[in-house]
Amino acid sequence: MNKNNLQELVTKIQQKHHQDKGGKNASYIPYLASVPAQLSALAVVTAEGEVYASGDSDYGFAIESISKVATLALALEDKGSETVRRKVGDSPTGLPFNSVMALELHQDKPLSPLVNAGAMATTSIIEAKDKEERWARILDFQRQMASERVVLSDEVNESEQTTNFHNRAIAWLLYSAEHMFCDPMEACEVYTRQCSTLINTVDLATMAATLAAGGKNPISQKQVIKPQNIPHILAEMMMEGFYEKSGDWAYTVGLPSKSGVGGGIMAVVPNVMGIAAFSPPLDSAGNSVRGQKMVHELAHTLGLNLFLPK
Ligand code: GLU
Repeated sequence: MNKNNLQELVTKIQQKHHQDKGGKNASYIPYLASVPAQLSALAVVTAEGEVYASGDSDYGFAIESISKVATLALALEDKGSETVRRKVGDSPTGLPFNSVMALELHQDKPLSPLVNAGAMATTSIIEAKDKEERWARILDFQRQMASERVVLSDEVNESEQTTNFHNRAIAWLLYSAEHMFCDPMEACEVYTRQCSTLINTVDLATMAATLAAGGKNPISQKQVIKPQNIPHILAEMMMEGFYEKSGDWAYTVGLPSKSGVGGGIMAVVPNVMGIAAFSPPLDSAGNSVRGQKMVHELAHTLGLNLFLPK
């Protein structure tokens, strides 16, 4: 598909869905409830660094759970895949992202780095001498994968740090079972900050494109992630990236993806492109309703399902 056609397709799909109804903003984090529900954007960044975007694509929204992918990538760089697998786990829980029952069922081992428990454990294994260094390395890694525009929002962070009681409880449970590898409240606080950065849809598509391009950010041209770590990250995204609807997404779209309760979705087409969508209203699992429709339609139209026979 040539450049004009791809831009036309991105615009057409974003405009087709931008007034779709259904879903609700996340409300358990006060900031997220206040984001205008009508916002929507769709963006593609190719593995060669071409950018296509439509809608509110420069609006910075809270990255939330999508940050778990960047921290997992950094943990793999720091520790290697066998250590991450042994300490955190590698399998889907089949339960909601903040489930305590999932821990109960598995001797308090988180299983997946893409649920809250596993994400906090992953944050805790990042190499750092103290909290501020842990945070600085994680923020820097989000920026390297996406863009220098990624910033911490004090407003989102304040909203989350003052309401994250459930995550604090999970952090202590992990600690009591020896699945937490730094001070549990440090891990919870840094995890909460990593969820509180603002990213726009083009930069999120760049993050996805870095994963699509073997770990090299196609805009900055910098190799951010070792190529051998990419399959592990994409496997986790395919298994657990869409909360307990990850199976539906794999069945219908067939792309490793990650969503966040801020309304963002990123999807990776290995060696080809990163796709990102944003719109705040969520389905019951926490996935953007319009975002899913936009990514699904784009991927389907372009025949991008990884499992399609050639
Ligand atoms: N900061 C949110 C939490 O920990 C992120 C949840 C998400 O996007 O899944 O609850």
